[in-house]
Amino acid sequence: MSSVSRREFMEWAGTTGAALALVESMPKSIALALEAAVKEFPLLWLQFSNCSGCSVSVINTVHPSIENVLLDQIIPGYQLVLRFQQTVMAASGELALEAVRDTHDRSKGRYVLIVEGAIPMKDQGAYGTLGEKAGRPVTQADHLRQLAPDAMAVLCLGTCASYGGIPAAAPNPTGCVGVKDFFAAAGIKTPLINIPGCPSHPDWFIGTVAHVLLLGLPKPQEVDAHGRMKLFYGTTVHRACTNRDYLDDGIMAKKDWFAGQIKAFFINLIETAKELDKHYIAPRYPNSYPEGAPMDFYTRAEAERAVDGAERVIEHCKSHLFR
Ligand code: SF4
Repeated sequence: MSSVSRREFMEWAGTTGAALALVESMPKSIALALEAAVKEFPLLWLQFSNCSGCSVSVINTVHPSIENVLLDQIIPGYQLVLRFQQTVMAASGELALEAVRDTHDRSKGRYVLIVEGAIPMKDQGAYGTLGEKAGRPVTQADHLRQLAPDAMAVLCLGTCASYGGIPAAAPNPTGCVGVKDFFAAAGIKTPLINIPGCPSHPDWFIGTVAHVLLLGLPKPQEVDAHGRMKLFYGTTVHRACTNRDYLDDGIMAKKDWFAGQIKAFFINLIETAKELDKHYIAPRYPNSYPEGAPMDFYTRAEAERAVDGAERVIEHCKSHLFR
């Protein structure tokens, strides 16, 4: 049965079942046979030192929806089975960690390990733990050391997992590293694909998973120097700008006053964007200040200026995206 594709099986079951009046209530034996025809890919999604923004981003995927990705076969005959994900799973404690151990033991070489977040290494990894063993906390580094070597591939979701990101920013008090650096230090050779972004783009993540399932691991020439698939990271928004051709062809505004107006407009926009960048951390992370809440540090005038600036940047982007 395993050599029959799901589509072929459904066609066969549809015609045969109709003749035998079995369509309405598929017998258990047929349902089991159908299951056997579907190739399952277990996923273990571990969140280390992160903000869960990449999880939220992927959960917000639109085409396909996250329900499609996890409950349907995004590719006929291929079913993703998410066995562990701290943020969305209902199970907790030992029951949840049992799913990790079980997947590791029973699906060696077949599961895909998704890592979200950097790995704290300082003080034997004490600043990031997940679960316990014999009453002692298990470090995130230990989980990765055990799970990564037996994975089919490791997907680094987000900038933190790929390169260390915000948790590894100076002065990096917990000694965080990205997965690539972790692998280099631990001598782990499992294929690794970076899907950076803060957060990572859901389409790039789903696309990478689909590529691995359909076409296997990317060939060396399909990956860039930063470990990213060129298919998704080979071009930039700047390249796709509708005004880019003018720049490439050297067609610039001739009149000084007009060029000056455009320059002033963009300088103003860039200044606004720079100011907004300074607010990136504080309103996003409730514990971004040593004490008190972020709202204690903002005045109403500052908040209104930030909202006004954000609206101007959004309007400008919209006018370029939808014309
Ligand atoms: S890459 Fe950005 S969004 Fe993703 S976990 Fe790290 S800080 Fe959060």
